[in-house]
Order: sequence, then structure tokens, then C-alpha cells
Amino acid sequence: MGETKYIFVTGGVASSLGKGIISSSIGKLLQARGYSVTIQKFDPYINIDPGTLNPYEHGECYVTVDGHEADLDLGHYERFLGIETTKANNITTGRIYKSVIDKERRGDYLGKTIQIIPHITDEIKRNVKLLGTKSKFDFVITEIGGTVGDIESLPYLESIRQLKWELGKDALCVHLTYVPYLAAAGELKTKPTQHSVKELQSVGIQPDVLVLRTEHELSAGLRKKVALFCNVDENAVVQSIDASTIYEVPLLMQAQGLDETILKKMGLPVGETPELGPWRTFLERREKAEETKPIHIALVGKYDLQDAYKSIREALSQAGTYNDCKVQVDFVNSEDLTNENIAQALEGMAGVMIGPGFGQRGIEGKFVALKYARENNIPTFGICLGMQCMAIEFARNVLGYEDANSREMNEKTPHNVIDIMEEQKAITNMGGTMRLGAYECTLEKGSKAYEAYGTEHIQERHRHRYEFNNEFKEQYEAAGMKCTGINPESGLVEIVEIPALKWFVGTQFHPEYSSTVLKPHPLFLSFIKAAISQ
Ligand code: GLN
Repeated sequence: MGETKYIFVTGGVASSLGKGIISSSIGKLLQARGYSVTIQKFDPYINIDPGTLNPYEHGECYVTVDGHEADLDLGHYERFLGIETTKANNITTGRIYKSVIDKERRGDYLGKTIQIIPHITDEIKRNVKLLGTKSKFDFVITEIGGTVGDIESLPYLESIRQLKWELGKDALCVHLTYVPYLAAAGELKTKPTQHSVKELQSVGIQPDVLVLRTEHELSAGLRKKVALFCNVDENAVVQSIDASTIYEVPLLMQAQGLDETILKKMGLPVGETPELGPWRTFLERREKAEETKPIHIALVGKYDLQDAYKSIREALSQAGTYNDCKVQVDFVNSEDLTNENIAQALEGMAGVMIGPGFGQRGIEGKFVALKYARENNIPTFGICLGMQCMAIEFARNVLGYEDANSREMNEKTPHNVIDIMEEQKAITNMGGTMRLGAYECTLEKGSKAYEAYGTEHIQERHRHRYEFNNEFKEQYEAAGMKCTGINPESGLVEIVEIPALKWFVGTQFHPEYSSTVLKPHPLFLSFIKAAISQ
């Protein structure tokens, strides 16, 4: 196609308007036209990456195949586009500054005074263009975190201004704002949008496209007014109205010709509007599934926040659609669970999901839930810490080691069935103490995991420090908990299962990160199938 095109997505008026979904939808529509597309997120915070952030602060930490701890928006990009993102797809202010400061220490700037402009902005621009120049994508969509007007966003906006100036038609800015509805006046208000666009204009950026988030249909008159006051073409003002699912947004954008407008503005041929056949089929199937009587899955964890288990919730919902049933995820706070109230807490649950996590808090409740699910043969899926808890609960209540634990929880017990292993140290990336990113796993034929994947060799993403302690492996297997997935390089245990039960599987890796709209994850499909046939 020639030069890579750059689309910037900024947001104004309020946060949480769904820049990630709009970026993903634009990406999806361009991809459907045969273009190669990637999306990257620039976060204006000082942390080097979100790995150290509490899920309450920033929701789930997503992990890329190359082992980068990333913003959860990268999960949306992968689920919508079916692409794999990498470390280059998520940059923070912390990383930009670190790289500039490292260069300064190396003497790369030859004695110059290092300033936000041009050094920080140049580094931002270099990172914006990295994927385009390296991997030759047709489109690189860059989502800028935060809201226009924030002090920390300024260097990013200045970089966009410069890039727009340098790249001309090859760069375009989509600005997402909010049009509130004042119930008392019965009116939709465009003033916040006008102010937000003024804010952008004051730093020298004229947005090319405006996407207006709204809970009510916007009239043609209102859009015309916004176009006139904000200096934007009328057909470049589109609405993003609340949808029943985020996966409908690409279709809503296509119906308003958003991709067409973008292509025209960038001087590209428009051609035929893509059918988006498989996407529509998914949505139709989903709609039918949502009408069924829901099956309840207990999500046992300690972060009572939608975004904290984002990918797990999405993977469960996708698996529901492909099993033609609605999955209702019921959060169960593990901190509240006791042997006395567990039967009530899990009443009516068709399946139990024990999620990932760090630290001691809420751990004992997970053992309580696991014991109950195991003894009552409820389909159960443990992910990462969830799998580790499966192993500890089994050691305590079946192997008879009352003090069994993970070294993360208790340094002293002789029965650290979850431990830091030499093998883990050997394969962990230099400097890092966590096993991060995709690792191979060999599945045992005949196991639930093997049946689900339908293949012996898989690769899945990791994010953890502790491992199943192989010293205890024989005892586990003799007592009925099998190690059915092994890392071929290190011998580390990646999957445990209890074959005697209906569906009791724990994975040390995170399968939820690789479940996409058009390619739901086999383990989630298999888990929901088992839960339905309860
Ligand atoms: N805290 C555990 C570990 O570090 C599990 C991590 C996780 O669930 N992602 O091994």
C-alpha cells in the first residue's frame, strides 16, 4: 500500500468512554478491507509497565506472547482483530523517560540539555513509528490513554501535532468525546465536546473525525452543529451509542461509514463495504445464546471489580456463545468464604472458576471453595494462582499434609507444594523473576486438556513466580491428581487434572489471554460444555 498510515485516537470530556473499543473497531473495519493493522496504546503514567499496578488501580494486567505486562486494552485489540500484540504495542511515559535518561547517561546526546521538547517528544514519535517501520503494517492505530487536558498528556499531544504536520495525509486524529443527556432539561448537550475539541485545537491539533459517545440517538441537526462548531466534516461526526455488546460497535461504526470516511481522508480507495460475515455470525449466535436460561459460573477471587478479571470474563462469555448458552458470571469474594457458608455461596453454580492473583489475602477461601467443588464434583477451572490453590488444597485434604502451602504464602512449611524451582530460574528471562509470556507445553494424550485442544503441543502465556513442586509429583499422581501438561524444556508442571472428576483442571498458564471473538479458547469451551451438562 506504500507508506504506513497512522491513526491517533484521543479522548476528551471523561475517561472510560471506550477508546480501546473504538480503536479496536476501526482496526477491525480496516482489517476486513484487507489491510494489515496493529494497534498500540500509549499510557501517560510513570510506571514502566502496569505489572506492578494493583488491579483496583488499572484493572487486569494483560500479558503479550513476548512476555510484556501490558494494559488491558491490548486484550481488546487481540480479541477484536485476532492479532498478537507485543511489547512494542504498549508504551508508558515511564518507559519513554527511562529510555531518554538511559541515552543521556550513555552520552548519546553529546552534551545537549535534555528537555521534554524535543527529546521526550522525539522518543514518543520514534515509538509511535516503530511498529510501522519495523513490521510494515498498512495501518498503525495509536490510542492515547488519559483525557485531553491532563498535564501528563501534553507531550503525547505535541508529538501527534508534529507527526500530523510531518506525515500530512498519512496521519489522522480521531477524537472520542461524550454527549451527556440532561434529564431535567430533556436535552443532549454538545458543549463539553466543543470544549474538548478547543482543548485539542489549543495545542495545535485539529481532529479529523469525532466519535460522540451517547446514551441517546443523536439527531442529524446535533451532528451538524458539532461539525460546524468543531471544524470537522459533517460525515466525520459519528455517534457511538450504548450497545448490548462491545462486539457490535464495529458494525455500528461501519453503518455510519466511519472506515470509509477515514480511507477518503487518507487518500485511499474506498471499494466495497466488507460483509464481516464471521463477525455477524458470531453476533447472531451470541444474541440467541443470550436469550437462553443462563448457567452460573462462580468467579472466586478477591478483586470485586469488572475489569480485574476482564479476559476471563470475556473468554467465559465467548465460550458460552459457542456453546449456545448464556454464561452468567457471579463474583464470589473468597475472603468471605468458610466451610459453614460455602454450600450457600456456591448454590446453583454450574461451574467454579478460581482466578489468578497475588499474595495471601483471600487464599484460605479459595481452598474452601476448591474442597467443596472437588467433593461435590462441580466442574472447576483453576488459572495460575487458581491452579496452585488446587494443588495446595489437594495436598492438605487428600495427601494429608495439613501444613501444605506455597512459598509465596509461607516460607517455613516443609510441604511447599508450590515453590520457587531451579528449573524456573533457569528459563526465566534474564533479570526477571517471573515466568512471563508464551512457553511450550506438551499434553498427555487422553487428558481433558488434550481432548479440548485436540493436539499434543501447545503454547500459552505465563505470569507467575511460583511453580508446582516436582518433588511431590508422584504422590499427587498416585492419589488421583495428574500432571497432564508439562513444559518440555524444563519439566515444569503446566496443567493438573483430576480425571476421576467430571472437569477439574488447573493451568499454570493463562489461557484467557488468547481467547478471541472468532477463535474462542478450547479449554474455556470444554469447561463451559462440562458445566452445561451438569
Ligand atoms: N502469585 C502466584 C505466583 O506468582 C500466581 C500468579 C498469578 O496468578 N498470575 O506464582
